Amino acid sequence: MKRAVRHAAKPDARHAAAPGRALAPAPISSALGTGQIIAAAAALVIAGAVLIAYQLLDMRHSLIDGAKVQAAIVADSVTAPLMFRDRDAARDALHAFRYAPGLRAVGVYDNDGNLFAEFSYPDSRLPARRPPDGATPEGVITVTDTVRHRDTTLGHTVLHTSTAKLRAVLLRYVGLLTVASLLAMLVVAVLGRKTRARMAAAERKLDYMAHTDHVTRLPNRHATYARLAADLERARTQGQRLALLLVDLDNFKLVNDTAGHAVGDELLQHVADALTGAVRASDLVGRIGGDEFAIIAGPVPDRAAALALAAGVTQALQAPFRLRQGEFFATASVGFCLYPDDAGTMGELMSSADTALYHAKHAGRNRLAEFVPAMTAATQRRAALERELRRAIEQDRLSVHYQPQFNCADGALVGVEALLRWNHPEHGPVSPAEFIPIAEDSGLIVHLGRWVLRRACDQVAAWQRAGAPTLTVAVNMSARQLREPGFIDDVTRALADSGLAPGRLELELTESVLMEDVDGAIAFMQAARALGVRLAIDDFGTGYSSLAYLQCFPINQLKIDRSFVQLLPRRGETIVHAILALARGFGLAVVAEGVEEQAQLDWLRAAGCDIAQGFLLGKPVPPDAFAERYLDRRTGLAGFHRKPDSSSGAAPPGA
Ligand code: C2E
Ligand code: MG
Ligand code: MG
Repeated sequence: MKRAVRHAAKPDARHAAAPGRALAPAPISSALGTGQIIAAAAALVIAGAVLIAYQLLDMRHSLIDGAKVQAAIVADSVTAPLMFRDRDAARDALHAFRYAPGLRAVGVYDNDGNLFAEFSYPDSRLPARRPPDGATPEGVITVTDTVRHRDTTLGHTVLHTSTAKLRAVLLRYVGLLTVASLLAMLVVAVLGRKTRARMAAAERKLDYMAHTDHVTRLPNRHATYARLAADLERARTQGQRLALLLVDLDNFKLVNDTAGHAVGDELLQHVADALTGAVRASDLVGRIGGDEFAIIAGPVPDRAAALALAAGVTQALQAPFRLRQGEFFATASVGFCLYPDDAGTMGELMSSADTALYHAKHAGRNRLAEFVPAMTAATQRRAALERELRRAIEQDRLSVHYQPQFNCADGALVGVEALLRWNHPEHGPVSPAEFIPIAEDSGLIVHLGRWVLRRACDQVAAWQRAGAPTLTVAVNMSARQLREPGFIDDVTRALADSGLAPGRLELELTESVLMEDVDGAIAFMQAARALGVRLAIDDFGTGYSSLAYLQCFPINQLKIDRSFVQLLPRRGETIVHAILALARGFGLAVVAEGVEEQAQLDWLRAAGCDIAQGFLLGKPVPPDAFAERYLDRRTGLAGFHRKPDSSSGAAPPGA
């Protein structure tokens, strides 16, 4: 694939601009290079200096020792000439030392300190008077000795030995050491360079891996957040506007589950390309989660321009992506938020964009939601409701209402749908449409669903035992429950404990619940059918309405969504006719939901719909009211009589 090759060769330009790199400390490899060489040079200089100093002392010591021996020999050889004041003999004796190595001058002074005899080179003449002890001319070593004859001091010898040879040897030594040091440094530099190059390459790779998402080659979560922090800081100092978009793919999990992870990865790469193509080169697209992307667009001149850019992003995901395995859709919900208009800090910006994204999702997905302050209030209400819902569960403030379902052909009461109710002590009744999604998101639905299931089974079994006609009880199920491994056991236990026949329980699942995890849904449905429990698709027609799943899901019944029923009888006939034909083809029963008008009921009955449910026939009511309304008091608990719903005033079908 072209993209993979391009990215594999080199981190792309988007990533090169990623802030993680800009904010990272200086690489160790560069610090190592100069540091290493300076340390090696310093070590060599110190070692060299110590060696040279030692060598100097050693050679000087040897030179002095040699000169002392010579001075002693001189003293012996001039004893007689000095005693007899024979200058010529003394000069001859001194002249014999002319080959002594390094000797510059040798002389004898008498006891009066006068020079008695000397041998010296022209530039090294001895003074006429004996110099005080310790006085040494430049460039020589002076050694003295006493001339004695049987404890009588006759005079003194003075010997000057040149240090020139010492200096020459020392210079050679320093030269040698310098050459050796330079060679050593060269080796260190060459080796160091290679090590540095290798380390720098390893560092670059590590840095790339730490900041890049390996599937899309986009900056990862860490790099995206770092860039956002840097861009926000710049926008703040330069007084610019910056837009943050959170993009969440709507049905990515479905693609992963149905087509496999390889296809999912390929789709993500296409999405990454599409998003990158939809923004400016200076903007950043990062992958911050499995199917979540963030886009940082800045600077933007005004809100309108930022929104136009965001609309372009949403638009870029409208067309299907052509993958090797076929065409796939990857529409997204997009949350939009602008700095500094909507948020002042990074935390606020993220949270506002997240709130907007949440609203985009709950408004039906595949759309862009712009952050407005009212959203925060809605989110806060949601958080409060979640807290209160937990309390309501603990304090047993929830109840189940029952809505009747009638046979269209003869008007007989055939079933009930159990619907959860929450009567809030302050806000009054809270709609399930509001609290069920909260319960789903927070996981409370698992507990709630189990509770509704037991309550509904117990209730209908009790009515049944009291002599009511055979009823089917429909219980709604959420996606979260479907994923709960113990849910089938809950169903088995609810049936066993209540004594309700399995065929009298119907579980309602929505299309989106089924499509979230197709394999899991099929496994669950097969287990439920094996128990003898019935299955229905709720709100049919509002989700995927895929013909394929009608074939592979073992369902018994379709519930036509209220939105279609409400268009009847003048509009919507084509869709409802089609659904009825489809259901008939697959051998499924059909329930029409939300029947509010007699004309709708008449049309449905004429079209061959099996069951009707709606306000026209009966609203959801508490169990007592249900029994009161549909139970025949004259015959005890013998049967139901079908009173019209007092609120609608209409009679049930066939009544
Ligand atoms: P649903 O399963 O499609 O339930 C039917 C909804 O339509 C109920 O709303 C019912 O009161 C309403 N309805 C019935 N007939 C009519 C009519 O003629 N006109 C109008 N306008 N509405 C009608 P409700 O009780 O507010 O429940 C809303 C949704 O909340 C349910 O839709 C269901 O998806 C969910 N829900 C309710 N109880 C539970 C539960 O125990 N568990 C789960 N998972 N979801 C539940
Ligand atoms: Mg339902
Ligand atoms: Mg429904």
